[in-house]
Amino acid sequence: MRCLNCNTVIAESDVSCYSCGAQCTTPVRAQQRGLPVPYIGLTLMLVGMFGYVFLNRPVTLAMLKEHKMIALACGLAGFFVGLFIDAFLWWHRDKKR
Ligand SMILES: [Zn+2]
Repeated sequence: MRCLNCNTVIAESDVSCYSCGAQCTTPVRAQQRGLPVPYIGLTLMLVGMFGYVFLNRPVTLAMLKEHKMIALACGLAGFFVGLFIDAFLWWHRDKKR
């Protein structure tokens, strides 16, 4: 996390900033703006896309266009499955704090 006063990077467990001594009670996640990155969703998207291509080797040039669409669909499906897991983990993490 970062100190709200001087923006020095400090450990999560630090109660006060070692640089300026200010109280640091705001967790880093509350300081971050925007949505968290769905890492599992992105990973499963790549796994779905490349996994499909890998399982259907060899793909000829004529088949490529059709298989590209299916591979993208697999990636999209994987992304939503991963997003679901990510959402669950975010929710779980929120509950634990
Ligand atoms: Zn500070």
